[in-house]
Amino acid sequence: MKKFDVAIAGGGLIGAAIAFELARAGLQVALFDRHEPGEGSSWAAAGILSPAPENSGMISTVPLGRTSLQLYPEFVANVEEISGQSVGYRAKGTLEALFSSDAQEQLSTIIALHHGLGLKAEPVSADDAHEMEPALSPELEAAVFRPDEACVDNRALTKAVLTAAEGSGVKTFAESNVQSIAKDGGRCAGFIVDGDKVESRWTIIAAGCCSAEIKGAAQYAPVRPAKGQMIALRAKDFSIERVLWSDHVYLVPRNDGRILAGATVEYVGFDKKVTAGSVQKIIAAALQLAPALADAQIEETWAGLRPDTPDHLPIIGPTDLDGLLIATGHFRSGILLAPITARLIREWITTQNISLDWSRFSPMRFGEVARATNS
Ligand SMILES: Cc1cc2nc3c(=O)[nH]c(=O)nc-3n(C[C@H](O)[C@H](O)[C@H](O)COP(=O)(O)OP(=O)(O)OC[C@H]3O[C@@H](n4cnc5c(N)ncnc54)[C@H](O)[C@@H]3O)c2cc1C
Repeated sequence: MKKFDVAIAGGGLIGAAIAFELARAGLQVALFDRHEPGEGSSWAAAGILSPAPENSGMISTVPLGRTSLQLYPEFVANVEEISGQSVGYRAKGTLEALFSSDAQEQLSTIIALHHGLGLKAEPVSADDAHEMEPALSPELEAAVFRPDEACVDNRALTKAVLTAAEGSGVKTFAESNVQSIAKDGGRCAGFIVDGDKVESRWTIIAAGCCSAEIKGAAQYAPVRPAKGQMIALRAKDFSIERVLWSDHVYLVPRNDGRILAGATVEYVGFDKKVTAGSVQKIIAAALQLAPALADAQIEETWAGLRPDTPDHLPIIGPTDLDGLLIATGHFRSGILLAPITARLIREWITTQNISLDWSRFSPMRFGEVARATNS
């Protein structure tokens, strides 16, 4: 029987970042993935690091996102140093283009909203926006610059975090399906992996949109997949410096010159097909934002499954089963939230003293209804 201080189900960015953090704190950590680690949602993402809420329902994640964004430079430096791999971190801010006739009014509202949440945002005239990003449409009326925001090459980052975790002593087990948590008396004592028991003092479920499939975890992690389709473009004679947004699309630069465009949000189960209709919508919105992309080559299309929750907020923290923790449901922000998630889990495991209020994200919030439905 295998025995560790910590056993983690799921080798996406969330599981890998937690493993890395805990190994650096001196714990013996094992990471299990039912496929190759790092090929789930963390591979499919766009890599935007933005704590700005998409709607009022997401406002409670702002402190988490803001802190995680602040942790990014140190996180990246540690990962790059230990892995010897570059993760394509670009701290150049993001620019949101406004097209409507009442753009000035919209601009004031957005800026006030951001400032109220402690987020930096600056008004930018159409001329200045074009100077910053010549590829932007001449139709835009104004823009919002968020200087603190950034992006990262999430594929490279996830790979590098996995390498850095292994370099710090984490044992990684690929093609290892976690079937259920294992109980011993009144506590969680590890899990069952392909029929074998893995024993651990701490057991963490970080299996992304499949977390609810692990027997015994669904009541704490009622996640479901939210499909997102993406396109990678390569323009011949121009690139963009920073993430660009409109109401309908975002464009994300990569250090290799590619420009990613995305993304849809679809509730169609575990289907990862790329569809003509969605590609058409993303391309149309991308060309409206940056018309020069019309001549760009389509290099790649793909779809990924975000781990979404009933209230769209992440699930991070301990459960009422001693030894069992959950770290999933990061929905559209798991790349951004990886450093803070890893930090909070490490603080809980090593000191039980948390530096940020995480009660809003507790696995216990789904209560009896979710428990009755999912157990
Ligand atoms: C199109 C798209 C765009 C996105 N853009 C952004 C963005 O710009 N910024 C941002 O912050 N976030 C973004 N996200 C969200 C982000 O990708 C996710 O929130 C994050 O990657 C979740 O990480 P994870 O480790 O929880 O899940 P995953 O990366 O999916 O990893 C889960 C892992 O668990 C494994 N697993 C599943 N079941 C089991 C089991 N039973 N046993 C063992 N292993 C198991 C899987 O094989 C997988 O490797 C985007 C997502 C998509 C799809």
